[in-house]
Amino acid sequence: MMKIVTIPCLQDNFAYLLICEKTQHAAIVDPSEAIPVQKAVQQHGVRLTAILNTHHHWDHVNGNQVLKANFPELKIFGHESDRGRIPEQTEFLKNGDSVRFGEQSGTFLHNPGHTSGAVTYVFGKTAFTGDTLFAAGCGRLFEGTPAQMYDSLNLQIGGLPDETELYFGHEYTEANLRFALSVESGNAEIQNKLTAVTELRSSGKFSTPTTLAEERRTNPFMRCSSAEIHASVKSKEPGHNLSEKEIFRTLRELKNKF
Ligand code: ZN
Ligand code: FE
Repeated sequence: MMKIVTIPCLQDNFAYLLICEKTQHAAIVDPSEAIPVQKAVQQHGVRLTAILNTHHHWDHVNGNQVLKANFPELKIFGHESDRGRIPEQTEFLKNGDSVRFGEQSGTFLHNPGHTSGAVTYVFGKTAFTGDTLFAAGCGRLFEGTPAQMYDSLNLQIGGLPDETELYFGHEYTEANLRFALSVESGNAEIQNKLTAVTELRSSGKFSTPTTLAEERRTNPFMRCSSAEIHASVKSKEPGHNLSEKEIFRTLRELKNKF
């Protein structure tokens, strides 16, 4: 069995400590900072053997160097195209590679869009999406096209089973749900989730993880076939071509300005 511990870092980042309960070996997803990760490792009495970086951005890899200095056996995973961009990287993932620590074995999806080397790590019915998918949102397109991000969300992550739990990189859920409502105000599930998440946040709790089923119902970037979203986009850009990828591109632009 694998246990997951959420570690809030920086302003609104999440690192996740994955513990192989049989061996007490552990992996850390996106250590933005070393200190809170080291505290959690001590607290849980585990042996940290791997870092899983979802992409090269500073707020996801900033703890790598200190952790590698303190735990020299660490394997540091990232996409092969992030060579030179992920500090201390030792494992360069390419299609078909597996990701192991303790007795856990996972896979990865290559998700270009937010960055060209962005990946999602998948362990059974659990996935770590970094800044590709957020609850009710997606990352900004720094190095990819809207079409790539559409595929990353809808075909790659969207190809996982409905019950998959999605652990994302930032606590942006409330703002994302507000944007989702602005383009699909008739979607009661979005309103209900916004009420629930607002309550959760005001009591100091976090909204991670979500599930793929929930995202299909509330994430506008996975709802590009919704009639109401089409109507919203069309009212903002009359004469809009209504292909799903064009809807996606427009949604991403509207979100940038929201
Ligand atoms: Zn990022
Ligand atoms: Fe980030």
